[in-house]
Amino acid sequence: MKYAENVLDLIGNTPLVKLNRVTDGIAATVLAKIEYLNPGGSAKDRIAIRIIDAAERDGLLKPGGTIVEPTSGNTGVGLALVAQQRGYRCVFVLPDKVGEDKRNVLTAYGAEIVVTPTAVPPDHPDSYYSVSDRLAAEIEGAFKPNQYANPNGPLSHYESTGPEIWRDTDGLVTHFVAGVGTGGTISGTGRYLKEISDARVQVIGADPEGSVYSGGTGRPYLVEGVGEDFWPAAYDPSVVDVVIASNDAESFEMTRRLALEEGLLVGGSSGLAVSVALKVAKDLPADAVVVVLLPDGGRGYLGKIFNEKWMRSYGFSDESTESTVRELIS
Ligand code: PMP
Repeated sequence: MKYAENVLDLIGNTPLVKLNRVTDGIAATVLAKIEYLNPGGSAKDRIAIRIIDAAERDGLLKPGGTIVEPTSGNTGVGLALVAQQRGYRCVFVLPDKVGEDKRNVLTAYGAEIVVTPTAVPPDHPDSYYSVSDRLAAEIEGAFKPNQYANPNGPLSHYESTGPEIWRDTDGLVTHFVAGVGTGGTISGTGRYLKEISDARVQVIGADPEGSVYSGGTGRPYLVEGVGEDFWPAAYDPSVVDVVIASNDAESFEMTRRLALEEGLLVGGSSGLAVSVALKVAKDLPADAVVVVLLPDGGRGYLGKIFNEKWMRSYGFSDESTESTVRELIS
């Protein structure tokens, strides 16, 4: 019989798939690493299990303990999944702008959520940061993972994502492209690939235009999960050869093309990463192998990137990827 002992054993070992259509006119091979096939639906499952393993080992998380983190997205899902299987309580602090669907995913896994007002400054006692700090101090046995500074985030990618890419490309990978949020993915995976290849593999960060990694001021953009307005400790700039920006329009167009042409329903940060991977790949020879990491799936964005009205409200309408809805019942 072939089965996993537990859902946590399904984390990692995600496949690579060749991009065939969006790469039209490009000689290099471009391979996408499909992180939505992790059980919680994103690359964040990898950091969640590594962070919790380390906290158990270091005595920071004991039986009956509680995980407290300000997170609304993929990290929350990963932590909730691991916490549930290991018998910990999870309390997530979310700003009120986070939609119902995202809240419901977290509570479906058994997490508790505390909703805080968005319209207050970070140092206000009711802010998302202040409330999570206060809960972490007040709840007995609380552990705060702090994904922006926890070294186990990048380490999880150093130990899993990097070796998987090296193994699955038989060491032929020449370029690695990933979006930068906390910086954990690119720093850990990039460091492994640099070390194992004697620095032959080029590591390229994909950043939304406006974010600090590509020289911006932190001005707002719509792509979620990537870009920052500060430099997190999880990001190690020494392993990144270059950071290339794409804007929201390019990122969303590529996200829609990945669903339409490659059969990959992924999130906006995947579209961003692929648009940057193609900017790099177009100048590379046929023997180059570019691996681009797609962090999550598209189901969390159906009301946004895959919704015509939402896209048009931001001026992103594009006939080539517009969806067709014919109302046959009047
Ligand atoms: N894309 C999405 C959808 C994410 O949630 C994240 C995590 N913030 C990233 C990309 C970036 O990953 P990292 O934090 O490892 O830089």
